[in-house]
Amino acid sequence: MKSKIIFGPAGRPVDYNGPAYKAPEYIADEGLSAYEYQAGRGLRIGEKSSNILKEESDKHDVLISIHAPYFINLSSNNKKTINNSIDILFKSAQVGECMGAYRIVFHPGYYLKSKENTLKIAKSTINKVLEKIDQSEITNFTFSPETTGKKSQLGNLSDIIAICREFNNFEPTIDVAHLHARDNGLIQTKNDYNKIFSTIEDELDIKRLHCHFTRIEYIKSGERRHHSLNELDYGPDPKYFLESLIECDFKATVICESPLLDQDALILKRLYESLL
Ligand SMILES: [Zn+2]
Repeated sequence: MKSKIIFGPAGRPVDYNGPAYKAPEYIADEGLSAYEYQAGRGLRIGEKSSNILKEESDKHDVLISIHAPYFINLSSNNKKTINNSIDILFKSAQVGECMGAYRIVFHPGYYLKSKENTLKIAKSTINKVLEKIDQSEITNFTFSPETTGKKSQLGNLSDIIAICREFNNFEPTIDVAHLHARDNGLIQTKNDYNKIFSTIEDELDIKRLHCHFTRIEYIKSGERRHHSLNELDYGPDPKYFLESLIECDFKATVICESPLLDQDALILKRLYESLL
């Protein structure tokens, strides 16, 4: 049986040299139970490799998610960008279903001059994606818009909640480092985490909360660089994060996005176990 909170890397483990689609065995051997396949720079994985990834993850009990391409911008005022974004999200759902991904993580886009208009356009784009999926053979998909790290990006906590409330098949990805960075050091105490998680609990019906974690460096406009867990100069704090998740009683998947990926995911896992 899976633990209540499971951990895994955002992408291929640091010292693993095999193909990304065969990583679940290595990840499970390390003692981790989740794996976010990275397609940020494009959906290059074929059907055959996707199927192998699904088989391997079932066999080794590793929960798969996929990070869709960064290019997506649901709220662009350029029609071509919108159409490309619809296409990419649709294809991500296809590939995601093939590899058995329980979440399709994506960055929703950028603000236009009017923030309200931004959300309206993003929602209308999502409707088009869902229509396209309706007419396809895809049946199993959960889109997971992520809280983003820059002030210019659509994706503060309330944007993500608004999108997830509006549509079926939508669950949030809570990147706590991004929330920390976009508000220039938002998370200082355990209570700051509690506020985030209790807002989510109040607004959404969460069965498993998908999270990203890393320490992060930021400038005025938001995120600058991810840092590993041993770089204590940078927040947010991992212990408060896990304590708050435990107190909120969430089932959660924590994907580690620090430069040390799986190695830091293991540190988070051990820290979690020490708190139980
Ligand atoms: Zn993230």
